[in-house]
Amino acid sequence: MTMKGDTGLVIEEYLASTKETACEKCKEPITQGALAKNYFVCPKCGKYNKIPARARIELLTDDGSFKELWNEATTGNPIGFPDYEEKSSRARATSHENEGVICGTATVEGNECCIYVMEPKFMMGSMGTIVGDKIAALFEYAIEHRLPVIGYAASGGARMQEGMLSLMQMAKVSGAVKLHSDEGLFYMVCVTDPTTGGVTASFAMLGDVIIGEPGALVGFAGKRVIEQVTGEKLPEGFQSAEFQLENGFLDAIVRRNDQRSYIASMLKLHKPASGDDMFHVRSHEQHLKLRELVHRPAINGGAVQKLMEMIHN
Ligand SMILES: [Zn+2]
Repeated sequence: MTMKGDTGLVIEEYLASTKETACEKCKEPITQGALAKNYFVCPKCGKYNKIPARARIELLTDDGSFKELWNEATTGNPIGFPDYEEKSSRARATSHENEGVICGTATVEGNECCIYVMEPKFMMGSMGTIVGDKIAALFEYAIEHRLPVIGYAASGGARMQEGMLSLMQMAKVSGAVKLHSDEGLFYMVCVTDPTTGGVTASFAMLGDVIIGEPGALVGFAGKRVIEQVTGEKLPEGFQSAEFQLENGFLDAIVRRNDQRSYIASMLKLHKPASGDDMFHVRSHEQHLKLRELVHRPAINGGAVQKLMEMIHN
């Protein structure tokens, strides 16, 4: 397993770490290094523990190939939600990331692609305006450079501290995915534990191929909420990746140590023949118009302020 990338050697630090941690599920104590060596899968109970987004990128991509985009983007407090600044600065400290998603370009076994990986430790990978901005911008970048997109979803859903603005990201990113798809470009998603709420209800379920990690929770509303609303008892294992596979929401469940080669073969299979521009049929003007619909200015600019004024008036 080669894991050295140019993402700050996070994996190497993990591998060398003798710090005690415990499995998220069975609570069996284990060193961080031993857990990392096993792709963060518990050797005792098999639970897929959460992987920091940057470590995941290192596990998946070719050595030194990852080039990050828009790392400096970080959230403001667009609707003036109480204590949000405090909460997001705590999230920055615990995750060592500026936001809930990392975006960039890389190669996977030599196949060029754009990649986004959501960070579960940044406010549960919740989708705020910057998360939406970054992922939408990545799809635009992918269109411009004729690249496929690989996405790793891990999210508690919309970020409630950004109210309706976070819900709007569902439409914005979905629009960008559609533009990318219309260009005949390939998009593949891997849903990880947990992928829920507005992320499941939008771009996590829009891949041409959707795979999941074993045992991942994948759903929209939680089990208890659905039981309360419908008054029905839900089956055992409801909303597990295995359940979703059986019901046609996922195409495959792929073990962590197989994901790199699985993704590489998917990228290879969907690569257009060289010089093949048969999908590139839309006129430039049409393209620009659609782009305008999708593209929103950065969230800390005046656009949001104007939008909020419109809503209030
Ligand atoms: Zn365990």
